[in-house]
Amino acid sequence: MAGKAAHALSLRIISECSTSKARCCKLTLPHHVVDTPVFMPVGTQGTLKGMIPDQLEELDCQIILGNTYHLGHRPGPDVLDKAGGLHNFMNWKRALLTDSGGFQMVSLLELAEITEEGVRFKSPHDSSMMLLTPEHSMEIQNSIGADIMMQLDDVIHSSVTGPRVEEAMHRSVRWLDRCIKAHKRTDKQNLFAIVQGGLDVELRKKCAHEMIKRDVPGFAIGGLSGGEEKSHFWRMVTLSTDILPKNKPRYLMGVGFAVDLVVCSALGCDMYDCVFPTRTARFGSALVPWGQLNLKKKKFSQDFQPIDKDCPCPTCKQYTRAYLHTLVTNETVACQMVTIHNVQYQLSLMKNIRESIMEDKFPEFVQSFMDKLFPAKNFPEWAVEALASVNIHLKS
Ligand SMILES: [Zn+2]
Repeated sequence: MAGKAAHALSLRIISECSTSKARCCKLTLPHHVVDTPVFMPVGTQGTLKGMIPDQLEELDCQIILGNTYHLGHRPGPDVLDKAGGLHNFMNWKRALLTDSGGFQMVSLLELAEITEEGVRFKSPHDSSMMLLTPEHSMEIQNSIGADIMMQLDDVIHSSVTGPRVEEAMHRSVRWLDRCIKAHKRTDKQNLFAIVQGGLDVELRKKCAHEMIKRDVPGFAIGGLSGGEEKSHFWRMVTLSTDILPKNKPRYLMGVGFAVDLVVCSALGCDMYDCVFPTRTARFGSALVPWGQLNLKKKKFSQDFQPIDKDCPCPTCKQYTRAYLHTLVTNETVACQMVTIHNVQYQLSLMKNIRESIMEDKFPEFVQSFMDKLFPAKNFPEWAVEALASVNIHLKS
């Protein structure tokens, strides 16, 4: 392959659904071989809130996400360089993905301003003005040393329309080129491009086509899951997977609700991340195949079943809903117990998706998953439409 850069990953398609666009792959990364479709729990400051790396490995979590914005401030690139990267620093041996830091700034900081140079923002620590450029993002992410790094992109909220969407799309392509140029460890880390274009079909297509001209090892679908209409959301996802190359991983950013994971796997996505499962755990809400259990509710005070009798996690093996109910309102240890369960729920769901694809029974899996979650068969309309677009017709 003359003229093509070597990448620090390989993707092998293990099995393809004969009905939909779902696929099962082995994604070989520098620190771990990851089975896809995969959900990546989010560890904000180099650790998942409420869990230590050992516990994640015990649940057989294969890849986690670290936030560059937080890590860039604390411990900061100097400490990370001295520690030999975040893997060593946090004692996580498996795969790691870092975001660019841009999304955090735009979403968390009111005073972020985007120029061609980068994202300018007021430091939350000392109020000084700082600038995150594509080059700076690459520098921090190279110090962190994650298996996958994300380009800095011009993120806009999905509610934004008009010329700003087109500007952000073109700028994201230009920033991708600057990231490619600044990336110093191409033999050890993989830089992913992020397809933007808002909810505009033509802009999305244009962006995807422009980005696949660059020989990056993987692609993300960005700028979605921001509260837009679900009927727009799935159409943007499926048009992206139609364009993106089959031999490279496709990462759908910010998606973590069970229905979304199942539907978007049918549409051909391989990777997902979301703070939802761990955040909702901190509010005492446990994820189960039939929805959610709010363990704070009084009705659980004398309920001596586990959260889910079929769940293999340590919490469900050892503790009852009544016990968790007692702790959940005033003990941080309960947050940890529910977090473990919710991460296990996500991992089990993805494992079931993968196994059904390998047995070529994915459509049957989708039907039984939806039946459990919606016993009254009141399936969300967008999900019915999205699944029908890939030949999975739900029986109601
Ligand atoms: Zn459990």
